[in-house]
Amino acid sequence: MSWDISNIQEWSWKEHPIGAVIKAPGNSRLIKTGGWRSLRPIRDEEQCNDCLICFIFCPEMSILVADEKIEKIDLDFCKGCGICAEECPRDAIEIIDEIEAQTKEKSGT
Ligand code: SF4
Ligand code: SF4
Repeated sequence: MSWDISNIQEWSWKEHPIGAVIKAPGNSRLIKTGGWRSLRPIRDEEQCNDCLICFIFCPEMSILVADEKIEKIDLDFCKGCGICAEECPRDAIEIIDEIEAQTKEKSGT
């Protein structure tokens, strides 16, 4: 099923289609919720001191840790909420536009 969302900016809550019902618990591992993301966190490895505060606050468990260090942000599940950037005491996470990030990735810049 698909919807025409070309004028979504003009929608009120009444225009939004009724959402799906999830009947099977524990299926969030299968559904890559990062596909909803419109903003992307970028961690500055130089600025980060691996305090792990972002790991504690991330509501999606998208900040992966190995050997008590940040390994990466799992973009398959990160929703781009920005909480990690808000809580980082060293301003080591920048939130950028997702489309812009993808464009940069494709162009290799
Ligand atoms: S909160 Fe900031 S400094 Fe701490 S681990 Fe996360 S990105 Fe690094
Ligand atoms: S933007 Fe939100 S979901 Fe993504 S890593 Fe940061 S806190 Fe987690």
